[in-house]
Amino acid sequence: MEPMFLDDPALFSVWATPDPNSKLAAAKHLAELYKNYLSLAQCYQEVSKAVKLDRRMQVFCTLGWKTALELASAAPPSGFLAGTSVVAEETGDPHINSFCSKHQSYFWRSCGVCDENYISYGSGDLLFRE
Ligand SMILES: [Zn+2]
Repeated sequence: MEPMFLDDPALFSVWATPDPNSKLAAAKHLAELYKNYLSLAQCYQEVSKAVKLDRRMQVFCTLGWKTALELASAAPPSGFLAGTSVVAEETGDPHINSFCSKHQSYFWRSCGVCDENYISYGSGDLLFRE
């Protein structure tokens, strides 16, 4: 595979709403996702806050756009409510940002997919541009 030299391409994350009745399961998922950064207790506090405010949380991050869309259309991780998953650019926040209806993604400044400056597939260290 050729190395990519895109200038700061957009990466994506999936957000979903935690289930008020499954806060511990949601916290466990997030503790696994952020295992080098946040403890289970910290994740539980964040889940409780999100439930109180009825807000989504990042449930998957560092994704290509198509991989994010696939994950958002599948069942959410344990502890999160079905039908609440959305895709946002990694620098975006679906609560405050604009939505590109063509690419089904929230973005901060401009849609990276419209701009042709984005990662298409993969997650973590394995990211691909088609
Ligand atoms: Zn777009």
